[in-house]
Amino acid sequence: MAISLDYPDLLRVDNFIGGEWQGSVTAARYAVYDPATGNKIVDVVDSGAADAQAATAEAHRAFESWRLQPAAVRAQLLKRWHALILQHTEDLARLISREQGKPMAEARGEVAYGASYVDWFASEAVRSYGDIIPAAVRSKKMLVTKEPVGVVVAITPWNFPLAMIARKIAPALAAGCTVIAKPAEDTPLTALALVALAEQAGVPRGVLNIVTSSREQVAEVVGAWLKDSRVRKITFTGSTAVGKLLARDSADTLKRLSLELGGNAPFIVFEDADLDAAVEGLMAAKFRNGGQTCVSPNRVYVQASVYDAFADKLSTRVSALRVGPGDRKDSQIGPMINARAVDKIERHVQDALTKGARLLAGGQRITDGPNYYAPTVLGDANHEMELAHEETFGPVVPLFRFNDESEVLAAANDTPFGLASYFYSRDVTRVWRLSEQLQTGIVGINEGALAAESAPFGGIKESGYGREGSRYGLDDYMATKYLCQGGLA
Ligand code: NAP
Repeated sequence: MAISLDYPDLLRVDNFIGGEWQGSVTAARYAVYDPATGNKIVDVVDSGAADAQAATAEAHRAFESWRLQPAAVRAQLLKRWHALILQHTEDLARLISREQGKPMAEARGEVAYGASYVDWFASEAVRSYGDIIPAAVRSKKMLVTKEPVGVVVAITPWNFPLAMIARKIAPALAAGCTVIAKPAEDTPLTALALVALAEQAGVPRGVLNIVTSSREQVAEVVGAWLKDSRVRKITFTGSTAVGKLLARDSADTLKRLSLELGGNAPFIVFEDADLDAAVEGLMAAKFRNGGQTCVSPNRVYVQASVYDAFADKLSTRVSALRVGPGDRKDSQIGPMINARAVDKIERHVQDALTKGARLLAGGQRITDGPNYYAPTVLGDANHEMELAHEETFGPVVPLFRFNDESEVLAAANDTPFGLASYFYSRDVTRVWRLSEQLQTGIVGINEGALAAESAPFGGIKESGYGREGSRYGLDDYMATKYLCQGGLA
């Protein structure tokens, strides 16, 4: 067997469409690789337009009955699914770690994190209240109700193979939508296992479907959904470039869109900050998942008077990080997802060094496997460097020096992106000023760990729109309907 699991049945390699596990109509398959070794794990279905259309037909048919189920029934399904996910934590973590590369401890954390959204939306399903509006005349009643938007396509990236898809499927099912999931090429196995558990939990035929495809086929597969007016919503997490493409190409059928896109998060350390807490916060925010996280700090600004002390403390911590395969007990940073990712990191570091950066830690590939890069700190970063403008998506911290608050605020906001920002300060007036002026959907104040199922996750500007998690997350999958009854007096 390609991967050893307690429940081998969780290793699925087929699409799940209309309650049946099946191959592509073309019988095509593509290989999924272990990023730690470059070895093939297994082949999965390489779908085409016909498979995408078959999934749409099933999801559309199933919507008619699923939307009429009482919210309590939908909640019960989610609760059973949640329990099964937790029960299979170890196997799911093995799948995540093998196909994505992250250390097992982080993979277990991702299972708990992803499952928390399923639990949360099981509870939210039964709280999708409407409103009664006071009418201006006695002869009328005016009501607002919420209805599911319809068939939802959920497209997700590879960096959190379980959490990203769970936090889309759960609110969609809770709202009464049916779903077609399309995981990333690199990490379909965790998503397939998650769907196998949903089947075990009793998801009705056609309510949840999954279609896998290679990067070569993705435009054809997603293209079939974009054109199809039966698909009423696309929920997407991934790059801003693909998000813009989806926004353009869904215009003809005016689909609802939720876009969780790229970031370029600033992390600001003021001279009045607790420096040790700021280092710890940065370590947590930056090195989770080897820096391959959309809310990962990409630009670290440190006030000149504390710059050297902060750089010393940080470099010591970063140099001590242990890099290795996800299944090695002491690994803290796994391999990057693929060769393209390492090439980009290397390009950013080389570009910074030629433009005056000082290497304080790391700065090279590690040759234990094809996709490792050493955790790196670069001093004296400036805005001429590529890494100031583009997500590096790897374990690289560039340190920028600044003198005053207005200068750093202008620099922090000088980006088309607006997902997350962080700052450390003990000045309470500054805390409120900055919180209001930072142009991001999420702000970490003296805190590096932000995500929670009870909080709204999402960006502004070119980081997208829509929110995942919290009470706001369900609304993204519901349409507001106004009912006006007359002739009552
Ligand atoms: P990506 O290339 O945009 O891929 C994301 C998903 O879109 C994958 O399933 C991918 O399929 C699919 N896709 C690629 N090209 C497509 C096309 N032409 N039409 C339709 N779908 C297409 O992004 P990524 O590199 O995997 O992920 C990293 C990005 O995601 C970063 O920018 C990161 O910041 C962002 N991200 C954002 C959040 C957030 O919540 N805001 C969370 C995590 C990640 P294939 O895998 O087959 O290419």
